[in-house]
Amino acid sequence: MTTVFDDAVTRLEKLGSDANISSNVLASLSRPKALLSVSIPVRMDDGSTQYFAAYRCQYSSLLGPCKGGIRFHPNVNQDEVQALALWMTIKCAVVGLPLGGGKGGIEVDPKTLSRMELERLSRGYMRAMADFVGPNKDIPAPDVYTNARIMGWMRDEFEEIKREKQPAVITGKPVNMGGSLGREEATGRGAFYCLEFLRKKEQKQANDLTVAIQGFGNAGYHIAKLMQENGYKIVAISDSKGAIYSEQGLDIASIWQEKQTSKKLRAIYCNGSVCEIQDHKEISHQELLALDVDILVPAALENAITMDNVDTINAKYIIEVANGPISKDADEQLFSNGVVIVPDVLANAGGVIVSYFEWVQNRAGFPWTLDEVQQRLFDRLENAFEEMWLYKKGNDQTSFRSAAYAKALGHIEEVIKVRGTKEFFSDADD
Ligand code: NAD
Repeated sequence: MTTVFDDAVTRLEKLGSDANISSNVLASLSRPKALLSVSIPVRMDDGSTQYFAAYRCQYSSLLGPCKGGIRFHPNVNQDEVQALALWMTIKCAVVGLPLGGGKGGIEVDPKTLSRMELERLSRGYMRAMADFVGPNKDIPAPDVYTNARIMGWMRDEFEEIKREKQPAVITGKPVNMGGSLGREEATGRGAFYCLEFLRKKEQKQANDLTVAIQGFGNAGYHIAKLMQENGYKIVAISDSKGAIYSEQGLDIASIWQEKQTSKKLRAIYCNGSVCEIQDHKEISHQELLALDVDILVPAALENAITMDNVDTINAKYIIEVANGPISKDADEQLFSNGVVIVPDVLANAGGVIVSYFEWVQNRAGFPWTLDEVQQRLFDRLENAFEEMWLYKKGNDQTSFRSAAYAKALGHIEEVIKVRGTKEFFSDADD
């Protein structure tokens, strides 16, 4: 069986060789630099002790300290963490950050834990990782089912251990604990900017475009909100439990507000405090992916689209807000069907860009305004998007993903060369 990491490495090798990247460089990027696998004991509220498998992968530090989120999910495993850390390596290089790639995770269903259990687990993770991570080594951040509060607990635990203030050890913290303004919405906002750059190139009007969004968490909600505010019609959204569809369009702010209170995804429209259920249909996860919409936004987990369901996809544009939502073979098929895909390593890079801004602000001890954060995010993504666009134009038959990998791998290759020849590199490919 092909694992998600195998698939990620096969894609790296294919796109790297298409871009004439040295085989030595590709070999060095086909395995992680370091991986720590631990078991975290947690005292549960009933007095028992449970053990949770947890990981941190430092994939590559060629461009700088490793950077990447921590995921809490029942399906977290070493293979997935490695794949996510490989994509972080590419992503940081695509948008020109002086950072390498990392990722971490705990195999847990956080919805089954009390708040105190969740805090003990989060602090236990940082205790286990305290010698592995650090502001100059590896800087974690939030990912699926982790949030600012958890980042705050982890910062606090790290500082207790080190007996000094180290705000830059982790990003995505609460703003009053050294977090950056604009970090929470950054992934969705960055993806929205990428969509807007594409829409303008394709000369489309937002009001004419329909959208389906898979995953209504931090990233999915923020892109949905910005899209609706700017005229796109969101006809369907889903979460882990199901999906809703309304031909006339869904009201994102009301649905989000409802989900925060009832934890349910309901097609609701609120005018002030008066809310009513909207005319809608409940559809399956697969039906949402197959909708005949202009834009599909996968914003949940890996492998939403594989060879098993690729033939059902009808969208003309896909904005990959999730990491790795399309398998390599399915991606190639969609490309040959003419679907335009903005890949994860560009579309969701807003999160790591503003995490980088947070790290810079922490190190400088000088916080930025929200306007500064948003403007710098916009500029960085616009530059990266333009580069991909020009590369695509100059290389007929190329996808945004090929352009992104060519840029990232070319940059890493240059850095390897200027760092000097180490014994494990021959100069045969120079
Ligand atoms: P989150 O925990 O806030 O939300 C995840 C959402 O996905 C939830 O609404 C959950 O119900 C939904 N979901 C889970 N399984 C699903 C399924 N099978 N079908 C439909 N929905 C499902 O997580 P997030 O931070 O929004 O992350 C979502 C994706 O974006 C992940 O792939 C993550 O790696 C990626 N990402 C997040 C960030 C960030 O800053 N948070 C940055 C870059 C990339």
